[in-house]
Amino acid sequence: MTTLADPVPGGRPGDVERATALSAELTGRGVHGIVLAYVDTAGIGRVKTIPTAKLASAVAWGVGMSPVFDTFLANDSIVSTDVLGSPDGDLRLYPDLDHLVVLSGQPGWAWVPVDRVTQEGERHPGCSRTFLRRIVTAAADRHGISFKAGIEIEWAVGQGSAPGDDFVPAVQGPAYGATRQVELSDCTAELLAALAAQGVDVDQLHPEYAAGQFEISVGALDPVAAADRSVLVRQTIRAVSQRHGLRVSFAPAVFAEGVGNGGHVHLSAWREGRNLHSGGKGRYGMTAEAESFAAGLLAHLPALTAVTAPSPAGYLRLKPSQWAGVFTAWGRETRESAVRVITGTVGHRDQAANLEVKPVDLAANPYIALGCLIAAGLDGLESSASLPDEITGDPARFGAEEAATRGVRRLPASLDEAVEEFRKDELLRAALGPALADAVIAVRLGEIAAVAGLDDGQVAAAYRWKY
Ligand code: GLU
Ligand code: MG
Repeated sequence: MTTLADPVPGGRPGDVERATALSAELTGRGVHGIVLAYVDTAGIGRVKTIPTAKLASAVAWGVGMSPVFDTFLANDSIVSTDVLGSPDGDLRLYPDLDHLVVLSGQPGWAWVPVDRVTQEGERHPGCSRTFLRRIVTAAADRHGISFKAGIEIEWAVGQGSAPGDDFVPAVQGPAYGATRQVELSDCTAELLAALAAQGVDVDQLHPEYAAGQFEISVGALDPVAAADRSVLVRQTIRAVSQRHGLRVSFAPAVFAEGVGNGGHVHLSAWREGRNLHSGGKGRYGMTAEAESFAAGLLAHLPALTAVTAPSPAGYLRLKPSQWAGVFTAWGRETRESAVRVITGTVGHRDQAANLEVKPVDLAANPYIALGCLIAAGLDGLESSASLPDEITGDPARFGAEEAATRGVRRLPASLDEAVEEFRKDELLRAALGPALADAVIAVRLGEIAAVAGLDDGQVAAAYRWKY
């Protein structure tokens, strides 16, 4: 479980002693440096690193980093809001020791997620990890509800020797094909070994649909740990692949056409150890609260798209009939609806039942995305929102009239549209707080401006190697 208490100057009780012992142990294991990791508003992983001997000092006093990264774009240019993006000021990166991992994929290194705190010891309003902890804490306090989450990871494996920024698939075998599995056998075996050594509970790994594409799914955890894990797993995939001469892309659209890389989110709400998505009187065993939670997600999805698909390239992926779930609809195991209700297999439903949210990609900051998804679901739960009828099949076949009758909406077809929806969504903006909500808008507008005048192929190329 993730510690939900904020870091404090001097360290939380016991932290410094723990870090001192840990750094000695890590040094003995040949760990020379520690990667301090966080994700910016644009969804780019940013880091600082420290020698292992500095861990106790980092836990007590943090490690400095400018707040300007809250308004960095994927191309490293900088926008600003009225409070963020200035060259002034400093923040302290505080490692969360509960989630420190020795990196098997990068010998000599450990990795740890950080919370960002001001020099006065206060929460930094732009810190997305702090935001998610706050949302999770509030859900527990107000509703006695906790969550389990898992983020699927799809990625494309390219030849490291491909010229320039081209993507040349490293495998030729068919989708889900045995050939493709054999072609990447050495690399994926090493990947599974590295993840196991890092304590990552992998559910499955398979060759996916698009050129060079693979997918991994991991066990569900509390939301903060699930977001941390998503960042860690991608770091490991990248590192192991690089050792095999391969280059990987987690971009939503490696090419302008065809199926992209998703980052589907699995989410379930629990109270006192009981899964609210199973054993209830609602449809497919959902409790009334779980149905309302799903209704809240559907209602806010158009605005949520601004945080679940934050890159202009995300809208090359978010097209009908590409399994990305671009309609505000739900169905049991319906893979073209935005929300797929998963019951699990009979006998295992109390553990396995959950909601899968599909219009999410891996350009999303996972802390912001999960926090906003939970806030949206809780809004439905608090207002006892009613879940519309389910759909079956592909909603793309509905004419305008049928879609309207069923309450099925196409999600934003561009980042511009998503930002307009997000601006109108007071609940999501309030959940994020003004500093982070304004940063989301400023960074999205910056990304839109950065690709102005580019055609779809150029947009895909601009983001191909960013995530
Ligand atoms: N690649 C698809 C996406 O972009 C998902 C395929 C699947 O259902 O696993 O969301
Ligand atoms: Mg998939």
